[in-house]
Amino acid sequence: MENPLKQYFRVPGAFVKLPSNGRFYSVPPKLSSEGELAIYPMTAEDELWLKNPDALLNGEASKRIIQSCAPDIANPEETVLADADVIIVSARFATYGEGLTVTSECPSCKENTEYSFKLPDILASVKQTPDDNSIQIGELQVFVRPTTVDLQAKIGLASLQYRMLINKVAEEKQELLEDRQKEMIQSFSHNITTLQFEILRENIEKIVMPDGNHVSSKDHIKEWLGNIKKIEFDALNTKIEQLNESGTDIAYKAECQACSHKYDTSIAMDPISFFA
Ligand SMILES: [Zn+2]
Repeated sequence: MENPLKQYFRVPGAFVKLPSNGRFYSVPPKLSSEGELAIYPMTAEDELWLKNPDALLNGEASKRIIQSCAPDIANPEETVLADADVIIVSARFATYGEGLTVTSECPSCKENTEYSFKLPDILASVKQTPDDNSIQIGELQVFVRPTTVDLQAKIGLASLQYRMLINKVAEEKQELLEDRQKEMIQSFSHNITTLQFEILRENIEKIVMPDGNHVSSKDHIKEWLGNIKKIEFDALNTKIEQLNESGTDIAYKAECQACSHKYDTSIAMDPISFFA
């Protein structure tokens, strides 16, 4: 029997346009007739979970918020970064209302100044992901895709491991430090290089050859990546970064209350500090 309480469950608190418009998902998000995604307020359980001091990494937190607040995205781990930013801003709006106060530390005197924003203003300026997701590399046309929150979570885990490694190195006895340090840093940088390759490979959809045939085999693409020039590798990464660019305008001009120093900064978009 269907739960008679279902009609009293939370309802969407916002509808938003996704920067990607639902491209790049294997199961496209269910959008309203106006092409907007429904965003639900966070549940009490989500809030408790986010405030847990052992809170998971930002990538995991993003997935959790998307799963709970944007249930019309079938596979939250497929959410592309530009869309995730917009969903997180909207989830905060749907849960706590339009005001957002952030604190910025002055780079000159280290004093904190508070700034107030209205989340609907941020959401009104959402930019679309560029239409063209291909790049010419020599004779090949390479189709890339933006990074997903799932890949971002992997990157987050790798940088956490790096910080733990550095802490471990710092605890070592002084006389052991240098050799152990070198060894650890070397093995880490090897892992990071492998990860960078994997990320790039995951972000390539297909490669079209001059005869019109295309390659989408992950193994073939991986081998190709190992045999291109550094400048071509960098060009691919730059193209992917363009697709990852936040759809929200979160940059602002700060002026320190204590020393009047003026500087450019932006609102931190990682879910853990955004909901703190
Ligand atoms: Zn200052």
